[in-house]
Amino acid sequence: MTSFDLVINNARLRGHDGPAHLGITGGKISAISKEALSGGETIDAEGALVSTSFVDGHMHLCKVYTYRSFGDATIGEYGTGTMGGAMTGIELASKIKEKYHESWIYDNAKAAALNAIKHGVLHIQAFVDTDTKARLEGIKGVMRVRDELKDVIKIEVVAFPQDGLLRDPGAEEYVQEAMKLGADVVGGIPWIEYTDAQSQEHVTRMAKLAQKHGTRLAMLNDDAGDANLRTSEMLAVAALEFGLEGKVTSCHARAMALYPEPTFRRLAALAEQAQMGFITDPHTGPLHLRALELFDMGQAVGIGHDDIEDPYYPWGRYNMLEIAFLSAHILGANTRARMENLFDMITERASRAIGATPKKITEGAVADLLVHSHDDVHEVLNHHLPPKVVISRGKVVARSTSSTEFSLGG
Ligand SMILES: [Zn+2]
Repeated sequence: MTSFDLVINNARLRGHDGPAHLGITGGKISAISKEALSGGETIDAEGALVSTSFVDGHMHLCKVYTYRSFGDATIGEYGTGTMGGAMTGIELASKIKEKYHESWIYDNAKAAALNAIKHGVLHIQAFVDTDTKARLEGIKGVMRVRDELKDVIKIEVVAFPQDGLLRDPGAEEYVQEAMKLGADVVGGIPWIEYTDAQSQEHVTRMAKLAQKHGTRLAMLNDDAGDANLRTSEMLAVAALEFGLEGKVTSCHARAMALYPEPTFRRLAALAEQAQMGFITDPHTGPLHLRALELFDMGQAVGIGHDDIEDPYYPWGRYNMLEIAFLSAHILGANTRARMENLFDMITERASRAIGATPKKITEGAVADLLVHSHDDVHEVLNHHLPPKVVISRGKVVARSTSSTEFSLGG
């Protein structure tokens, strides 16, 4: 009899009829069988969906859980109907950074990472403010969480100059220092600069830095209700110019919602050439990038959580199913086919959007798996419960239960 480290029997897999039974050995899926398996710690999925783990391509991990200490001022500006006050919102939020300290950022980021694991998120692209106000406090705190949990969850730290480079002289040196300290990805927010020429300069400098360190480049682009913003386009062009094809991600990019059709199509074509990914976060603002259209073109587009209880967004539990559920309403993605697309946008498409190889349920694949409480994507999204079991690299790392006991009298 074959022996496994872990067995998941009676699983339902996306795109497969009938139950599947999975054997896991040495952190990898070693068998997928139509017959029940034995010989190892065994989980009975009881016919529930088993999927790959979730990916969050865009999270401000240094700001999580700061909402209660900061209040509503930023949200009022940032969330106005047309995102007209987005810049003012960012300026207000930057005040909190004067209080940045590694120790409390570590505590908050650790709590968020544990919530991520609980909800089956095993890969995060974490934006961390790196500028003259935040200094390197967030970078140090979040890198500590990254290193502590590295055997369970992949956290990629983005050195992110939230207040701009040209607007915030000295920020660039902090980003350079963060990369030397071991940050994983060069960040940027070119749209926040005062002129298009400065936005271009911002993109070029950060692309050169990513090229120098051999890393990816992830930017927060065009995050306001202004159809003239073009920093996604600048990022795609920079990828082609500096050999960063497949290594660039454009996040937010809300202005795309207002683009004339030719401008949108031009950007989509450039993104394909540059193999640029997009991460959207439609739940955090009134505008959002054209996620379903890009998805239908086959482009790498994922949904990001973006914030958890911070000055921009007061909600969030690190539950990507909840974010996909919200996105279903906002994007008008309520058919079964679209539900599958949404699920892809928190799994394989999200991986592609941040330059990672999509996880799979095939023999030989890394066993990063979730055992859900319901049997199909529709029900899993509808209830958005934490997975019953979260498996990282073949090991059970979290179990959750949900039950109700009725006392109705009689
Ligand atoms: Zn964001």
